[in-house]
Formats: sequence, C-alpha cells, structure tokens
Amino acid sequence: MRVVQYTNQQQDEWDAFVRQSKNGTFLHERRFMDYHSDRFTDCSLMVYDDNTLISVFPANWDASAHTLYSHQGLTYGGLLLTTEATQRQVLEVMQCILLWSISYLQVLRVVYKPIPYIYSDCAAEEDLYALFRAGARLRTRGVSSVITMSNPLRMRKLRMRGARRAIDNGLYIDRMTDEDWCTLHEYWQLLSDVLLRHHAVTPVHSEEEMRLLMSRFPQQIKLYLVRKADKSIVAGCVVFITRNVAHIQYIASGDEGREHGALDLLFRHLIYERFKQMAYIDFGVSTENGGQLLNEGLIFQKEGFGARSVCYDSYEIDVDRAVVEQMLPVDVEPDRSIRYLDLQQLNASFEPLLSEAVERVVRSGRYLQGSCTAAFEQQFAAYIGVRHCVLCGNGMEALVLIFRALKTLHQWADNSEVIVPANTFIATILAIREAGLRPVLAEPRLCDQLIDVELLPQLVNECTVAIVPVHLYGRVCNMPRINAFAREHHLLVVEDAAQAHGAMQGDRHAGALGHAAAFSFYPAKNLGALGDAGCVCTDDDTLADYVRRMANYGSATKYVHEVPGINSRTDELQAAVLSVKLPRLDADNERRRWIARRYMEGIDNPLIVEPAMPRDEREHVFYVYPILTGYRQQLMQWLRQHHIETIIHYPIPPHRQAALAEFAHLRLPVTEQIHRDVLSLPISPLLSDSEVERVIAAINSFNPTD
Ligand SMILES: *Cc1c(COP(=O)(O)O)cnc(C)c1O
Repeated sequence: MRVVQYTNQQQDEWDAFVRQSKNGTFLHERRFMDYHSDRFTDCSLMVYDDNTLISVFPANWDASAHTLYSHQGLTYGGLLLTTEATQRQVLEVMQCILLWSISYLQVLRVVYKPIPYIYSDCAAEEDLYALFRAGARLRTRGVSSVITMSNPLRMRKLRMRGARRAIDNGLYIDRMTDEDWCTLHEYWQLLSDVLLRHHAVTPVHSEEEMRLLMSRFPQQIKLYLVRKADKSIVAGCVVFITRNVAHIQYIASGDEGREHGALDLLFRHLIYERFKQMAYIDFGVSTENGGQLLNEGLIFQKEGFGARSVCYDSYEIDVDRAVVEQMLPVDVEPDRSIRYLDLQQLNASFEPLLSEAVERVVRSGRYLQGSCTAAFEQQFAAYIGVRHCVLCGNGMEALVLIFRALKTLHQWADNSEVIVPANTFIATILAIREAGLRPVLAEPRLCDQLIDVELLPQLVNECTVAIVPVHLYGRVCNMPRINAFAREHHLLVVEDAAQAHGAMQGDRHAGALGHAAAFSFYPAKNLGALGDAGCVCTDDDTLADYVRRMANYGSATKYVHEVPGINSRTDELQAAVLSVKLPRLDADNERRRWIARRYMEGIDNPLIVEPAMPRDEREHVFYVYPILTGYRQQLMQWLRQHHIETIIHYPIPPHRQAALAEFAHLRLPVTEQIHRDVLSLPISPLLSDSEVERVIAAINSFNPTD
C-alpha cells in the first residue's frame, strides 16, 4: 500500500472516490472541505493498494501540537472506504497512515473522528476495529438525536399540541429560495441572537461562510423557516441533505417561536412530509461553547419525535511505532479457500491480451489452419528447440499420431511392443493401443515416480520397438540413460511431455530429448489452452510431414488424400490463446519451483514424504507437487477443513482400470503404492506467498492420531 498526500491536482480523483465510497457524502467533497482550508493545514491522505485508490482520509495537521486531526467541523473525518474494502485492508490502511504520519510529520497524537454508521451505505465499523488495534482510546463522546425513519417511535401528543398551537397562532413553514441572501441574513441575525443570549456563543459558520456553502451546494443545503403572519422569521434550521441522512443544524427559535411551538411545527413538517423518504433524520451534535454540548437535553426533547441517540465520538491515539507495526495480526488471512487450481483466476491474469486475441480471431473469419496456428507452431518449435511443431486435437491424439506414423514409416508389425511407465496418466497407454501397438508396463521408482531404467533390460525383447519416457508431474526422466539404452536395443524414444512444458535437461528442453514428443495443452497444464489442444514436436522431417497429413484426413493438398488419416486439429482460437500464454511460461514455471522449494523447506511433518528437487532445478516444472502419505484420506479431510483443496494424480492405476482388463493380472507393487499414497498439493503459479505458508502450516499441524 502507498500513502499520498492530497494536492489540488487530485481533486477530481478525490471527489469521484467520495461519490462511490460507502461512507462519503458531499460534506467530504473537496469543494466543501476546501472552504475550511484557511483555518487548518490540510493534510488529507489518499491510500492506494496495487495502484487502486482504496481509501481517502480527510485530515488536518497542527505542527506545534504534533497532532493530526481527522475532522473539520461538520465534515467528519475518518476513513472513507470502498464497499469492497476488507477488514484486513482497512487495518493495513490505518497502519500505513499512522506510519506515514510518524515518518513524515513526526506526529505524537492522532485524533480520529469516525463517521457515524448512519452515513454508510452498508453499516460497518472496520475502522473502529483498526483503532482498537492501534491502541486508541475514546476521547469525547458526542451524542446526537437521530430518527430512524423506517422505525420511528410513536410521536407524543405533546408535539402535536405544540404544532397545533403554532398553526392557531398563524405560524407557517417556508423555505429560503436559492440565493435569497436577504432571508439568510435575517435568519442568521435571529440565530446569532438566540445563541448569544442563551449560550453566549456565536455560530460556527459566519453568515458569509454559510452563503458560500449554500451557493456551492444549492441542492444539498437548505434553510427552512417558520414565519408568522407578518412574514417575519420566528424560528428555523439548516438542513444538510446527504445520501441517507437529513442532517439538521443551526436550529433557532426566538421568544415568540418558543412560546407558540414553532419548532414543533417545523420538525413535524420535516419528518412527516419533507424528508419522509430519508433513512435518517439527524438533529446533530452542537459543539459550540468549546465543545460543550448545547443539546444534551434535546435528545429527550426530540424523543417526542421518535429520536434515539447516535454517538459522534472522537478517539485519540498516542502513536507508538511498535504498537502500529503490530497492528496486522500475522495469522489473520482472509479466509479464502485455496483452490487446487483456479483456472478462472489464472486466465484472468492474462487479460486483456487474452480477450483481445480471441476477439481478433472471431473477427478474422478464419477459424482453422490460419495464421494463428502457423505462428504458434513456429513459436513453440523455436522455444522447444526442434525443427517441427505440428498442432493437433489434444495430447492423446498427438501420441496416437506419432505411433501410427512411426508404425507406418518404420513398418512395425501389429502388436509390436512399446515400453511405458505403469503409473502414467492412462492416455499414454490408450494411445499406444489405439495405434495397434502393445503397451508393456514398467514399474517406476518410488523416489521420483519416474520410469525405472534399471528394470528396462527385463522388459525388452525382439518385439520391442519404442520406449515412452513420461516426464510425470513435470520432472524430466533420465534421458541420457534412456537414450543410451534405446540406441543399444534399436528402439525409438517418444517423449510424453504433456506435463513438462518448459522443463530442461542439459541445454535442451523436454520435447527435444528423444525422437519425437507429444504435448498436451489441456487447460490445466503448465501451458494450457481454453479447451483441447496438443502438438507433436520432432526434428524428423518425414515424421513431421506424415503426422501433419494424417491429422488432416491424410491430405496435404485439399481433397487429395494420400494416407488414411483422421481429423485432429487445433483451431485458431486455441492457437491465439497459446501464443498469448507462451511468453509467460518460464516465469510461471519459476514461480512453481519457488513454491516447491518453500514446501520442501517448510513441511516437516514426519508422516509426509515429499518429492525431491533434482540437482539441476530446471529439470522440474512442478506440473504437480506430489507427496506420499499413508494417511491420505485423513490428510485430505484435514486440509479441506482448512479450506485447502487437494487432488489425487491418480487414484486408480491403469492396470486396475476396467478399460485395460488385459493388464489386470499384473502385480505392480510400486505403482500400486504410489496410487494409494499420492496426493497433489496446490501449486498454481498464482498462489500467494501467504497461501503457500497456510498450506505448510496446515500440513505441519496434521496429526491423525490426535
Ligand atoms: C494430459 C496428459 C495426456 C493427454 O493429454 P490430453 O490433451 O488431455 O489428451 C497424456 N499424457 C499425460 C502424461 C498427460 O498428463
């Protein structure tokens, strides 16, 4: 947050804020406040959060007393706030203001006058809580009599009798017309006279000041009068009309008015006719006479009209930097639940570029095989470091296209074998089978859940044609060893890089570490579209060309079909979206790594086994942050109670799926243990630092035996 002292350049910004704030009225507009400026040193402050103005604070500064005053007469001070401001933000605003005034004004004391709740659109007293946290104490308590118009008490007969007496004596109600300064003059004479005789004070506003204000705010400030038959004024009051409240000030009744019930007549009129639509009528607190309240007795008098008391308080803070610095309770976090992955938030963070890109496609009239797909293919190939990127329908089809193309180009026999990790997402296995090849499931290592290279020799035979390293959870497999093994056994290496966008091994990206690679741009992947998309990456010109034709009905030229193909395309909209997102991929991955590092440092619950960070951190992009625990159900439940969502990648191993019944006989203990114990913690790049800390704290406090 940032505090800026108000200057006249900000007048428009200030007034616009006041108008849409939840507790500001025209009394806080600069045109009103500035008329005071010759009496006070204006030290009004504006507070920005993320460059958005979220609060303004009208205040004055008395340098010799080292005191900041948050009020100017009727213009109550206190924080003006937006309706959306949260309690935590208000605490932070108050803290920033106090720290600012300590640093720049060397204040020792702040006098704070909250705006009474009746002036708020939605009654809230967040600033009172902030005062409490800052160590404030009540300084003065003004009490005003206010009628809640939705629930007025029954008017007493007494008032009715007074009003009738006034009418019987020929008194009548009048309102000063705009700019009728003679009438104002006459009333101010009466008012000054009455105040002087009864209370030995003069009005806070001189006649000239009132004239100035009335000419600036003709709609909001009105003078109501009671006249007698000869038209002379016997009583009256000024009404400040704010959005919820008719605020009555400068009430005066001369001797004749008092005798004849002039104010009974006037208030009856204001309450039951003139302002009956208002939420409140406020008879105000008079602070003349050095702060002595003139109208203490009037509360009870006005009770006759159904008024009750509302406090107009002021607080005093002896500012103590240490106390102010402790104002924000460290463990107070807005109780926002932490979603596993909030795609709406994620995609919103690419605005407005994302919507602009989509709109350009919508307007272009070209929705398939146009410039957006061509551009993204080029960008992604360059990023991964391969000669070809061929976009297709999704990640699974990318795998199917690769295997079908390789099968044809290399004349692999039906049911040739392809080694694949048993704990992959089922799409890898389905794709191999879909291409007429036979998946051979390999156990992973428990420590990194990646294919166990040590076991490969047991799985390879003369039917084996390929091996699929799956960079599961975003971590690159041990490619030098896999490639060496493949070379030795004349196998091709097809990377399933659907979870590893941006991961690197040595100086090459995942996707450029084998013969060909499949990527998925499923929305939740590290690089995700707004729907389905995928691609094939390879340096093999023949393969790329074959895949491209096959994905387009086996056709390179329209209506000429050389090979039996399918339709598997990424549309222009998705390609445009991907081009917007690609430039941020590395930064997002870096943030994921940062979160992973924090988890590794912070989580120390002995019931949890965490993933390891590879020695070269660039080898992991943490698509998933998988932990292992024998207490998965209880932990998920515990985290849910702490409003933290987790997901299981994946709950049932492929060989236990009905869709892959031919593998049901296999015993794969490591795979089974992973699927039984694995749990994915939130690792969205948009998690805030404090959300990460919340996850760590919740996990460390987990103890299923409690
Ligand atoms: C997501 C994913 C796929 C499939 O991608 P789709 O675009 O959903 O078809 C394949 N393999 C792995 C490892 C995946 O994570």
